[in-house]
Parts: sequence; structure tokens; C-alpha cells
Amino acid sequence: MRWRNWGHTVATEPREWTTPSTEAEVVALVQRAHAEGQRLRVVGGGHSWSAIAAPEDIGVSLDRVTGLVTVDRPAGRVTVRAGMRLHALLHALDVRGLTLPIVGSIAAQSLAGAIATGTHGSSLQHGNLSSLVEAMRLVDGRGRLVTLAPGDPRLDGARVHLGALGVVTELALRVEPTFALAETVEPIPVERVAEALPAIARSAEYVKVWWLPHTRQAFVIRYERTRDAPTSGVSTRRFVDETVVQTLVVPGVFWLSRIPGVGARVARLMARTIMQPRRVGPAALMLSTPMPARHRETEAALPLAHAGEAFDRTRHAIDRERLVVNFLVEARFVRGDRGWLSPAQGEDTCQLGAYCAGPTTDAYFAAFWRALAGLPARPHWGKELAHTRADVEARWPDAHRFFALRDALDPDRTFGSAFHTRVLGA
Ligand SMILES: Cc1cc2nc3c(=O)[nH]c(=O)nc-3n(C[C@H](O)[C@H](O)[C@H](O)COP(=O)(O)OP(=O)(O)OC[C@H]3O[C@@H](n4cnc5c(N)ncnc54)[C@H](O)[C@@H]3O)c2cc1C
Repeated sequence: MRWRNWGHTVATEPREWTTPSTEAEVVALVQRAHAEGQRLRVVGGGHSWSAIAAPEDIGVSLDRVTGLVTVDRPAGRVTVRAGMRLHALLHALDVRGLTLPIVGSIAAQSLAGAIATGTHGSSLQHGNLSSLVEAMRLVDGRGRLVTLAPGDPRLDGARVHLGALGVVTELALRVEPTFALAETVEPIPVERVAEALPAIARSAEYVKVWWLPHTRQAFVIRYERTRDAPTSGVSTRRFVDETVVQTLVVPGVFWLSRIPGVGARVARLMARTIMQPRRVGPAALMLSTPMPARHRETEAALPLAHAGEAFDRTRHAIDRERLVVNFLVEARFVRGDRGWLSPAQGEDTCQLGAYCAGPTTDAYFAAFWRALAGLPARPHWGKELAHTRADVEARWPDAHRFFALRDALDPDRTFGSAFHTRVLGA
């Protein structure tokens, strides 16, 4: 069976495809794969642009290993079967008056897949999704059940696990009561963004910056907690965005931007759509975006102090190399954490995303990473990256601990793949 990721950047043909429905079935499956010397890979939502989820021998879906297991409201903690999609988890929490304190742009990912790569939203007060994990159960490379309880030092190793340590079957997560957010959009001249980024990062509980290359104005988008009534039409607009704008209009815009000289004009037109009147809605809806039209992404995580320089270097590279870029540059902020391979490990971080569709994307992404050379920039594991084990060792002080944990949990590389060999070693 042929497998392809959401971004159509990776395709493979695993020999076998399987969908266990219980942890016991996962154990038996891993034991068989180990005994036969086959490589096994769980595919979550397939929403990584990198080859991190590409199955080689046995592809596994945990789409049947889903659902809430326990809800401890006073402790603000739930346990969840790890194949559950984020949108289903958010719905199950919402009917109980609970939510996640932070979400990313979309909720189509599986829970275990999202934490595997350090999926994040934008808030210096909340970490990435991996930092919400309080305990984990996984099936290691020889088919043994491993529980990482609160306080187990290996938990920090497994938060951002890259699918390299085991099949994650269950996760305990921090949650909080549902809350509403009000969104405001403030334009800012693009040449002022770099020096303002650290102050912007601290200016609201949730805040991000969007800039459409070839335009002179960026936008600071803030979300503040409110008790105001929800703005009418927020959900309807999301529906229209997903069914019409992102499926018909934006692909057309991407196509138009291929015509020489048209790209910049189209970008200026698109920028106008970012300005919105103040909107109020449930946090999970406000913090996410409509499911976007197919495009490609790469992303660098930098200490906040280097964020401005990285933003300007990207901006100048686009001008200098006359690149046609038809999608956003996005700056988001993530509280520093302790995940051994987390992009935000160690200090508060700006995650600078470069997004694009069409034939200019390869040149743009190469220019983006060239522009960041010499800065302490770590790649997002789920987005396009060309990094090697040597790059990982140079960027994460705890990389050697992760390598040792991998050796202990998966000594025979049941969860190996070409991608994992490149970034973690053979
Ligand atoms: C449109 C779009 C928007 C996005 N927005 C954001 C965003 O706002 N912020 C952000 O940080 N990222 C974002 N991403 C990236 C995305 O969140 C990550 O790539 C995420 O890891 C994908 O989750 P998934 O369930 O699709 O996992 P996959 O891509 O399928 O897998 C990721 C890794 O997890 C492993 N895995 C999955 N399940 C298990 C399991 N049960 N046990 C062990 N390993 C497992 C896989 O083997 C693989 O190694 C976006 C991606 C898309 C396509």
C-alpha cells in the first residue's frame, strides 16, 4: 500500500499496514516485528512535512486506540489513549468543561504524533504540547510495556520522542477549565518587527506575528482571556474558510503567484484579509486556523534574543535573492522546557516559520536556512529539515541522553528509518 503525508512531500510503500485496537495487540505486533527484524512505524495524522512518519516495512495506525481513560478535574489532569486526534480530544474535553491550555494551528494531528515533534502554539506562558505531558506508557522496541511516571527522568527524554523510543499508547496531560479568548490584530511596519519581537512575545498570554513577504506591513495577533459573549459568526466563518477559501481561493492564489510579477501584488491583496474586527470565541477555536490549502513548511526555533536577527535575515534573503514567496512568515513564541530534543529546550524560544507553495519553495527553504547560518537555530522535527546527527549534537546539549535512551528502549532499531538514521545515527 502506498502512503503519502499531508504535504505530499514524502511517499513510501510499506509491505504491511495494520490497525491494532488495544495495547495488548500493539505489544504482540512489536514483538513480532522485532522477532522478524522488520521496521515498524506508527503514522499519526501524517501531518509532518519531514519524513519522520514515513513507514518502511510495517505501517501502523493507532486510529482505533483512542478515547479518554480518566478525568481528574480537581487535579486538572486527564489520561488519553495516544492515537486520539486532537480535534476529538478537544471535543471530548469541551463537553466536560475542560480544554488544553495551548493548541497549534490545526487539530488534525494525533496526540502521540503531535508531541513527537514538539508541536506548539504561541505563548511564553505555556510550553509546547509536549510540555503538557505528565506521564506516558509506551511499548518499547522489544515489545515490553514501559511506564514513565511523573518524576521519572526519562519522561523529559520522551516528551519530544520522534517516534524513536516506542509505540506510545497512553498519555497523561495537564488540562484546564474552558475559557474564551478575544482576538485583536495590530498592524506594524515590517522593518520594526525585528527589534520589537521580544516585547511583542511578552505583550499577551497568546501572541504571534504574521508577515506576508513582498508587503510592508506585518500583523501582531493577540488573544486575551475574556468573559465577553462570543462574536456571532466565528464558527460559520471557519466553515466557509475551510470549505471555500482554503480549498478553492487560496490554491488559485498560489497558482497565480507563479506568473512573473504577479506574486507581490497577490501578497498585498492577501494581506488585507488578515485584518479582522475584534473576535471572541472558545480558546481552542480562536487559537487555531482554518485547515489551510496544501503547502510546505520549514521552521527554525531560536532563543528569543536571536529572533529579531533571524527575522531580518529571512526578510533580506527574500529581497536579495528575489524569491517569490506566496505564504506567511510566522513568528510564534514557546516557553523554554526540559524536553531533551525539544526545539524549546532550555530557554524561551521564537519559532520562525517559512511557508510556501509551488516551484519556488525549494530555493526559498534553502535560502532561509543559509540566512540563519551561525545562529543557534534548531529545526522543527515535523517540518522540512536537512539536518544530520552532527547538527543535532551541536544544537541540543541533552542529545547524548536521548541517544542513550533510544539505545536502552530500542537497541535493535525496530523503530528505525532512513530519517531516524540521518538525525539520530544508525
Ligand atoms: C496544516 C498543518 C498545520 C500545522 N500546524 C502546526 C502548528 O501550529 N505548530 C506546530 O508545531 N506544528 C504544526 N504542524 C506540524 C505537525 O503538528 C507535526 O508535524 C505533528 O507531529 C504531526 O502530528 P501527526 O499526528 O500527523 O504525526 P505524524 O506526522 O504522523 O508522525 C509524527 C511522528 O510521530 C510518530 N508517532 C505518531 N504516533 C505515534 C505513537 N502512537 N507512538 C509512537 N510514535 C508515534 C510517528 O512515527 C512520527 O515519528 C502542522 C502541520 C500541518 C500539516
